[in-house]
Amino acid sequence: MARERIYLFDTTLRDGQQTPGIDFSVEDKISIARLLDDFGFDYVEGGYPGANPTDTRFFESKRTSRASFVAFGMTKRAGISVSNDPGMSLLLQAKSDAICFVAKSWDYHVKVALGCSNEENLESIEQSVTAAAAAGKEPMVDCEHFFDGFKNNRDYALACARAAYEAGARWIVLCDTNGGTQPSEVRDIVAAVIASGVPGDHLGIHAHNDTGQAVANSLAAIEAGVRQVQGTLNGIGERCGNANLVTIVPTLVLKPAFNTRFETGIDAEKLQGLTQLSHAFDELLNRSPDHQAPYVGASAFATKAGIHASALLKDPRTYEHVPPETVGNLRKVMVSDQGGKSNFINALKRRGIVVGKDDPKLDALISIVKEREATGYAYEGADASFELLARSTLGSIPEFFAVEGFRVMVERRFDANGTLKTVSEAVVKVKIDGEMTMSVAESIHGPVNALDIALRKDLGKYQSEIGDLELVDFKVRILNGSTAAVTRVLIESTDASGARWWTVGVSDNVIDASFQALMDSIIYKLMKNREQVGQIAAE
Ligand SMILES: [Zn+2]
Repeated sequence: MARERIYLFDTTLRDGQQTPGIDFSVEDKISIARLLDDFGFDYVEGGYPGANPTDTRFFESKRTSRASFVAFGMTKRAGISVSNDPGMSLLLQAKSDAICFVAKSWDYHVKVALGCSNEENLESIEQSVTAAAAAGKEPMVDCEHFFDGFKNNRDYALACARAAYEAGARWIVLCDTNGGTQPSEVRDIVAAVIASGVPGDHLGIHAHNDTGQAVANSLAAIEAGVRQVQGTLNGIGERCGNANLVTIVPTLVLKPAFNTRFETGIDAEKLQGLTQLSHAFDELLNRSPDHQAPYVGASAFATKAGIHASALLKDPRTYEHVPPETVGNLRKVMVSDQGGKSNFINALKRRGIVVGKDDPKLDALISIVKEREATGYAYEGADASFELLARSTLGSIPEFFAVEGFRVMVERRFDANGTLKTVSEAVVKVKIDGEMTMSVAESIHGPVNALDIALRKDLGKYQSEIGDLELVDFKVRILNGSTAAVTRVLIESTDASGARWWTVGVSDNVIDASFQALMDSIIYKLMKNREQVGQIAAE
């Protein structure tokens, strides 16, 4: 039996832009559109031409080569003709392949927000769709508040969907704008829409995540008959976000409940780029990827307990719902105080470190790790520090440089303009090949930043090697021990290769803990440059 096509519609650049703290520049939008286009989405919605200068500029040229490029905007205003509506002319002139109109489908909103009659709203839908088609654009209509509208006035919500369909809209998208609809309701209401005469292959779903079910609602709508699904990368969006396409796509492609009935524009090979797509997007947003994200998170295929780890080595399928490589992710067996010897051997093997089961150095490493974890170290979250510790315990690591000492001062004072300022100053003494250098740095971003700048200011012959080293995340946790509180610092670093590594430091002094983590990061980077670490072996 031929499989039915599901069309994937991305609205990261339009609805995703509503996320608090996210504000895309035109350059950001161009980069993200390219990621989406390359990955293989069918539709890329770019924004709202005319609503702000960024979106207007973004629509000055077509930004996709494969995907249909979609402009978003309101239906024609009531009381004026299409040709006299300035918003409509901007939409029709935008360099897009398609126009997605947002239309009210809840009579309450028609009255309160639009202030027009129900009839006038139906006319606006019809005339807008007709005008878009006449301008050579694929017309579609987002029926805003459709599910809530349906529950309040079923006939009117259906009339809106039918008006769009009869006017020639390619897609009529049912929106759960408030995000509170449940999967069983979505299933029933989609069935009612199809029964009223709008075929499922013209219907789409746009779900919000306010009860944590945007993905479930999208999949329920597909099962009920819709053939277009809208969502965003990593589920960004207003309030609790939109349906996460990074979760929906692998589910449609990999799960027999869907892939035996449906196909998408994403094949098995493209799907292997999913983890990279998700992380590249976070990179662009300058935020750390969610470790627990389904399919693509660093923990998605990570196992902790000892008995699981040894079974996992024998047959990975026993503990994984899909093979990690299908989505471009990695299997990870974590080192922790729960782990037995097989955990360690496996973790070391994956880093290209071979050690015999009966080697006394292995027992030494295990007891050092356990001892340190008891004092607050967290090696399962600091792969690079673990690797350095393992390599130095089982063999040796080169001493690139030695830090003879450092000093950090924090001063709070009024500047010449009478503004209160807090300035940190760090002095670091480093010895390289017997020669001492001293670096001083100032920072208004705190003592750790000053220390970091000073430490990386002059590393002599290694200086050019660490030019691309960047700290991307810094996490501080106060741990309450039995006698006194200790501080754990985790640092995430990256370089031009795109690799990321975590290092850890623990002390009762936050500066000292940070310093340990910084040192590990630099040493790891220098070893990585020499291909002495970070070679994660494929299993
Ligand atoms: Zn929305």
